[in-house]
Amino acid sequence: MTEASESHQGGCLCGAVRYVLHGVPDWSSHCHCRSCQKATGAAFTTWVGVKAENFEVTRGQLTICETSPGVERGFCGRCGTSLTHAAEEGWPGKVSVLAPTLDDPGVASPSVHVYVEHQLPWIKLDDGLPRRRQF
Ligand SMILES: [Zn+2]
Ligand SMILES: [Zn+2]
Repeated sequence: MTEASESHQGGCLCGAVRYVLHGVPDWSSHCHCRSCQKATGAAFTTWVGVKAENFEVTRGQLTICETSPGVERGFCGRCGTSLTHAAEEGWPGKVSVLAPTLDDPGVASPSVHVYVEHQLPWIKLDDGLPRRRQF
């Protein structure tokens, strides 16, 4: 498969929302920030990022919530699965997708932990990746 034809599909738990990422994701990171913890109910999250034009919803639609000023998180309005993050100010033209919602989450290859100042005390990690206090 050539890079140009590579794509990765994913979706929510109930199947109402499906999406495709065109091309190779630009980056992937583990985020420990409080906002991601609250938004997903998970101790930390793993994102993959693509240019906005490479993200396409192929079934249903995202429900968007502005969870903090300028930050829009997308989820399935039926089952509640968290799916996306977009912020035009900090991340112009980019969409981040929660890697575990990919059909094949293994394609993500996270390179860094961010916002580790919020890492929960009962999460112990020893994967050797760089750790940043913020982004
Ligand atoms: Zn759903
Ligand atoms: Zn976060």
